[in-house]
Amino acid sequence: MTKDLYPELQRQLLDYMEEKKLNKSEGRFVMLRCICDFKKHFSLEDLGKKMEEHHYSVSRATLYNNMNTFLDAELVVRHGMLSKDKEYELKALALSHYHLICSVCGKVVEVKNDRIQESIEKTRFPRFTTHYHELYIYGLCSKCKYKIARNKIKENTNENLKNKKK
Ligand SMILES: [Zn+2]
Ligand SMILES: [Zn+2]
Repeated sequence: MTKDLYPELQRQLLDYMEEKKLNKSEGRFVMLRCICDFKKHFSLEDLGKKMEEHHYSVSRATLYNNMNTFLDAELVVRHGMLSKDKEYELKALALSHYHLICSVCGKVVEVKNDRIQESIEKTRFPRFTTHYHELYIYGLCSKCKYKIARNKIKENTNENLKNKKK
């Protein structure tokens, strides 16, 4: 089981609200609680539904505004380059894996790799202090690779048939 990130993130949110003099509305904390229940990427719709399960109904505008607060507070990240829905993820989770993205169908696979992790963490860049890193690796998923290979074979067969008819 993954550890519950809520207590730590709740503290982080409280600090942020105090610093920015924001209203400590209960809704924001319910929202954070719900976000902590997602072990994967999620969309605003997913979040709205989950909040309703907790008998908390909020408008899309409120969800959106609060999400911007969470992004600014660095509790959540938005994966801009991934598929439009399911673009949000808890930052603490997002930093624990890398994303392999299929350039054809957009499928995202999460992978852990200690070697890459360690090597980036140990790398010092001149005149720069690293805080954290995210990594997106683009390529072809096995399904798309198979489809492309199959289409190529078909094309070649068609070519051969055409040539034979000549
Ligand atoms: Zn992820
Ligand atoms: Zn694909």
